[in-house]
Amino acid sequence: MRPSAQSDTFLRITHGIAPADAAAIARAAELLRAGRLVAFPTETVYGLGGDAGSDAAVAAIFAAKGRPRFNPLIVHVPGLTEAETLARLDDRARIVAARFWPGPLTLVLARKETSGLSLLASAGLDTIAVRAPAHAVAQALLRAAGCPVAAPSANRSGRISPTTSRHVAEELGDRVSLILDGGPTAVGVESTVLDLTGRVPELLRPGGVTLERLREAVGPIEIAGRGGEAAPRSPGRLDSHYAPERPLRLDAWQARPGEALLAFGPDEPPPGFAEVLWLSRTGDLAEAAANLFAMLRRLDRPELSGIAVTPIPEEGLGRAINDRLRRAAR
Ligand code: AMP
Ligand code: MG
Repeated sequence: MRPSAQSDTFLRITHGIAPADAAAIARAAELLRAGRLVAFPTETVYGLGGDAGSDAAVAAIFAAKGRPRFNPLIVHVPGLTEAETLARLDDRARIVAARFWPGPLTLVLARKETSGLSLLASAGLDTIAVRAPAHAVAQALLRAAGCPVAAPSANRSGRISPTTSRHVAEELGDRVSLILDGGPTAVGVESTVLDLTGRVPELLRPGGVTLERLREAVGPIEIAGRGGEAAPRSPGRLDSHYAPERPLRLDAWQARPGEALLAFGPDEPPPGFAEVLWLSRTGDLAEAAANLFAMLRRLDRPELSGIAVTPIPEEGLGRAINDRLRRAAR
């Protein structure tokens, strides 16, 4: 779906979308240092960034998203050196960081008392989630800002994460000082969240780095929620999330009246769907992940009665895709 030239101009003027050139990145860094909020592209989804050392900026992020205060934020840094100033890393954490940073992996670590981070970012926990994103614009922005940047996905709480600057403008346009446009994001699902504070690493959220690759690097990993623990360690994970307004039906194959289909793989879908979009015709999970959120948005229209999705294999990036779809279907 291409926006018309006219509506595109409208969004650019009213919501401050700027192509992420050197001047815009410098301006965004200045805004962050002044305590303002800036949306920027990462390889996963667009983030809503604020100075992680400023209580006011972090509070503004929670307010802009309508995010519950018990759901902690991910703090973004250029790399391992900066992460070491915020959190305690052991050998295991350093191995994982060396292997997957910069990239779509968030590590939950013990927060250093000298971190200077706003306690709000941790939502009352003594841990902090840290990530070094790979996107060139995110890297340039973090280096220019010179401060750790708290940045959840740049959507209203409970809604689908944005994979284009236009999605951000639709969700949060009036709540953010500047939106850096770096084109559609390449990975398309959020980062993997790995908790390294316990004896055995625990996967809190499947995401852009697959469980298979993480297990290769660190050996056994527990999957959060499987152990039947009383309190979830990743507080935001209980919410219904990523939700389109239309009902979503998983592992579907037969059409219901007025329904659209999100298809995966080469098989021709049966007739009867009002509209069909392919996550990936070739069955490529990376392509499907990159398409997922934009396609859910495109199909979330009042004239459609619902969105059906064909089965997606529970392996590699398929875990992250199915996780988001199950939450959206709740
Ligand atoms: P978002 O930035 O919106 O993609 O969400 C960040 C995810 O990381 C949420 O699921 C949080 O609950 C989780 N998270 C952030 N910080 C922590 C932490 N200190 N401990 C456990 N989970 C965290
Ligand atoms: Mg989010």
